[in-house]
Amino acid sequence: MSHAISLRSVSKVYAGNITAVDRLSLDVDPGEFLVLLGPSGCGKSTVLRMIAGLTGPTRGDVYLDGRWANDLSPKERKLAMVFQNHALYPHMTTRENIGFPLRMESPHQDPGPRVEEVARTLGIGDLLDRHPSELSGGERQRVAMGRAMVRRPSAFLLDEPLSSLDAKLRNRLRAEIATLTRQLGVTTVYVTHDQAEAMSLGHRVAVMRDGTLMQVGTAPEVYRLPRHVFVAAFVGTPRINLLRARIVAPLGQPMSVDLGGQRIELVEPLSPDHQMLRVQMGSEVTVGLRSEAVRIASEWERRPHEVTLHGTVEHVEFQGHESLVHVDVGAAPAPVAGLESARRPPRRRREQARPVMRLLTQGERQPAEQPPEPGSDDPTIGPTARVAGHLVLRAPVEVQPRAGDRVPLQIDLGQMYVFDAQGERVCPAPLRAPVLGPN
Ligand code: ADP
Repeated sequence: MSHAISLRSVSKVYAGNITAVDRLSLDVDPGEFLVLLGPSGCGKSTVLRMIAGLTGPTRGDVYLDGRWANDLSPKERKLAMVFQNHALYPHMTTRENIGFPLRMESPHQDPGPRVEEVARTLGIGDLLDRHPSELSGGERQRVAMGRAMVRRPSAFLLDEPLSSLDAKLRNRLRAEIATLTRQLGVTTVYVTHDQAEAMSLGHRVAVMRDGTLMQVGTAPEVYRLPRHVFVAAFVGTPRINLLRARIVAPLGQPMSVDLGGQRIELVEPLSPDHQMLRVQMGSEVTVGLRSEAVRIASEWERRPHEVTLHGTVEHVEFQGHESLVHVDVGAAPAPVAGLESARRPPRRRREQARPVMRLLTQGERQPAEQPPEPGSDDPTIGPTARVAGHLVLRAPVEVQPRAGDRVPLQIDLGQMYVFDAQGERVCPAPLRAPVLGPN
């Protein structure tokens, strides 16, 4: 069986020698929902446009259903693209908006039955005679989806389709899109910079940075076994705690991870994962601890595979059902290249508000520059991201530490990540097969 979409070492270099995509290879199976995730400017939209045929790769090959597609026009590719600004024709009703691509394709054929079928599938059958101004944001989004679906595309390409909507509506539509595409069984590539959205949506998530593909895997795989510190830091809320460290093993003493002020002593006999750390002896490494790998508990409550550290509570974020506790353990924060842009999206090119299908049928060129979006709901932007370097952990409501308290911390060694100086994961061992429970 051939892949629905296959990119083979595809690169895109724009004028001015801007490498937007660098030797990227990626396969999408028929019916799969793949999310392309990465910070703004990392090349996601460019990948999508190369699949759609709106821009050609500088190097490399694009295959659609096993067929070499570099030379195919957007129209020949039979793909449907939905952009962030799901612009509808304001003077047209829902019926006319959805039917528009069919009328363009075959002016003498009645699009009515197909339009009604699509509208029924989307649950907007009773809105067919309304104009866009009489629809809610969510309903307009569904009409845009309907217009993309009406020609029975072989794949959907969705470029941040929900980012112009408010958070509540986005959550609802996100679930709807996932359900709908699953029901339709249409191959879907969905672009987003929002890791929470990516993790909740895709069969698989492809994480990009600076035009390169960092990792492709299911959401639990990229969360639990990130190949690179960038992936570990980009995925998950609150953000993984990343601390500078050094592996030490003085003669006759157990191996430990030196965090500067304190040491994490590794339990003997060393697990196969911890044995991997020997090669890092003496070099700078980055220790990664997700909030669930650390808990406030005294030494007598220590479980097997936990070691104790101590820290001073800096700040407590009350969240209702739990608190996020920021604790200073005297370690230095480990910087992650490329993450800053992930947290503060730069000015970027955005699709102009304009009819969706026109872009594909006429193969228009790149969108114009637009001002940055006001605000951002990226969960990595917030107090948690700003105080990087301290451990941020979750505390249940029964545990209510206060700023200034000195607290004992139990660190779960089974959930400790170590990344080498290049950012590659060395612990857990890179070749370890993922042992993953339900999502
Ligand atoms: P993303 O979708 O991840 O935000 P893009 O694919 O839009 O990223 O852009 C990747 C890089 O290519 C950015 O640096 C962007 O400024 C640049 N870029 C995108 N389109 C063009 C273009 N038409 N000309 C020159 N540079 C471009």
